Amino acid sequence: MVKTKRVVIVGIPGVGKTTVVTEVFNQLQQKNLKIENLTFGTIMFEEAQKLGISNRDEMRKLSVDEQKNLQIKAAQTIAQINTDVVLIDTHLFIKTNSGYLPGLPKDILDYLLPTNLVLVEAKPQDILNRRANDPTRTRDSATINSIELDNQIARSMLSSSGVLTGASVFITINQEGKSEEAAKSIADFII
Ligand code: ATP
Ligand code: MG
Repeated sequence: MVKTKRVVIVGIPGVGKTTVVTEVFNQLQQKNLKIENLTFGTIMFEEAQKLGISNRDEMRKLSVDEQKNLQIKAAQTIAQINTDVVLIDTHLFIKTNSGYLPGLPKDILDYLLPTNLVLVEAKPQDILNRRANDPTRTRDSATINSIELDNQIARSMLSSSGVLTGASVFITINQEGKSEEAAKSIADFII
């Protein structure tokens, strides 16, 4: 591939991003592309551990300034990777005690320089069920109404990210039991 595709994949917590992105990675690998599969939160957590944070879900409780510093450090690390495809699994916003903190503010986008932006969506009830069935993570409490609002905010932040970067924008639905189909739609969008 001549130019690195920098694909930022977003969606609200528990929608199934990491599941779908892992499948996108597998599907693209079969096409002999050199791919990096990165979880923004994991790279931020590696920086947070240096500050003594021992659980990744504790990062949301840090001050906004501390979280922003961690975001910048993670984005700088990711900016140095130039494989054929860089998959970046991240969030459009983080719900903090001080409101919605954008996950892709302009300074972060300026480092990441995405070529493609993908929003993974699912029905609010499916998202609630997936969160309830995933004991590996600590989730904030939510209702169908709060998830509907989060879905709306996600779409508006997605549009802003597209306008700021000029990246192509794509929305896919991760239907129950159909993460492979969602992954295929993303792989088709990228290549
Ligand atoms: P976070 O933002 O918190 O990292 P996420 O969007 O990456 O969450 P995952 O960890 O991929 O979400 O998925 C959350 C849960 O939903 C997992 O238990 C996963 O197995 C399940 N899941 C993902 N996609 C589907 C699907 N299409 N059908 C059924 N279950 C799914
Ligand atoms: Mg995830």
